[in-house]
Amino acid sequence: MDPLAIMLRQLSSITQWLLMGLLMGLASQAAAVSQAAPKLYGFTIVQQDNVMLHFDLDNVEARSEMFTLVKPHRLVVDLPKATLATQLPTQTFQEGIVKAVRYAQHGTDYLRVVLDLRGPVSPTSRMVSRQGGQRLIIDTGVAGNGTFDNRGRLISRTQEQPERQTQELGQAPDQDNSRLGPQNSEPRDVVIAIDAGHGGKDPGAIGPGNTYEKDVVLAVAIRLHNQLMAVKGVKPVLIRSDDVFIALRERMELARKANADMFVSIHADAATHAAARGGSVYALSMDGASSEAAAWLAKNKDESVSLHGDVSLHGLHDGLAQTLISLTQGDTMERSMEVGSSVLEELTRIGPVHKTSVEQKAFAVLKSPDIPSILVETAFLSNREEEKKLINSEYQEQLAVAIGQGLYNYLIKRAPEGTYLASLRK
Ligand SMILES: [Zn+2]
Repeated sequence: MDPLAIMLRQLSSITQWLLMGLLMGLASQAAAVSQAAPKLYGFTIVQQDNVMLHFDLDNVEARSEMFTLVKPHRLVVDLPKATLATQLPTQTFQEGIVKAVRYAQHGTDYLRVVLDLRGPVSPTSRMVSRQGGQRLIIDTGVAGNGTFDNRGRLISRTQEQPERQTQELGQAPDQDNSRLGPQNSEPRDVVIAIDAGHGGKDPGAIGPGNTYEKDVVLAVAIRLHNQLMAVKGVKPVLIRSDDVFIALRERMELARKANADMFVSIHADAATHAAARGGSVYALSMDGASSEAAAWLAKNKDESVSLHGDVSLHGLHDGLAQTLISLTQGDTMERSMEVGSSVLEELTRIGPVHKTSVEQKAFAVLKSPDIPSILVETAFLSNREEEKKLINSEYQEQLAVAIGQGLYNYLIKRAPEGTYLASLRK
């Protein structure tokens, strides 16, 4: 395995350990300090029939009070004596009844949580005891909306987004809603290139029941495209929308021409071992990257091709151009790994995966030095059971939703500056 891959894997396992340590720390703290001031350690929005808000507290005696405000609509939740267990970030949500959530500590008297809303709510609340504490559940009385997030699934998990720091902690909660308003300059959409593998004369893998990979992956790609069409701030682009053959290099070039911020190639796996099953996600390997850097240098140095961010290689001497490509590639690979694990995490929700971490391989189609790229092997077409699932439209839709959700979860954290999704972080 190459050094970067090892480093990235170590990094990701270190992050996991840190997170686990944090959670275990919180749990043991919860047991030890149940008589002390309650601490709020988690907030989650859950879309069920109604939009539900979950606040996790480490204390069995924690209480809450709430009230609503209008102009603009807000729901205020006061937690007497409580403090934040960790710095929970101010979060914004692109759709749904909750526009943003922020926290303000009022000395040792109470912790105030303010939810900026897109409309009125008629909330009811209850405390449910959980191990080591309790959960405050607020039913907003507002039906979950019919959009991307309304699948009875979490749209946000604060514990998993520690890098977004609270900026408004301690600030009076009833001030300054302006920063959540629309930006002055028109933010652009994030462009996602969706590449259905194979096509035309290239059928890809062929299942035992004679299912062609090129057909099922196109069906999933089109469903993913439709999913992403419904997300504000995202512009999906299909590399192929019918049964045509496109060379691998051409797929990358089509993505570049579409100004893609991200490239997602969709495939179905095959193995000689018929029992192999489950999805996998790949990013480019280091050896694939370095050979590509040389190829790029040779091909694009004298042309007017630019890396993203309008960095032109034109006129640069070889050493500098090489350095620029390597730097860009390093960043792109890190991002690819990150978006890959985000997608993989969502895939694990719909069934067992083949490998539990993002794998790295020198797939040609992933070699754009400046466009984060992943390849999703949806399932094993060589496995009879999975072949049946792959031709099932419901399962195709589940795959598309999982991949779309994984991309979205990544973009909410990492969408490039100047995009609508990045503006939601502000
Ligand atoms: Zn394939």
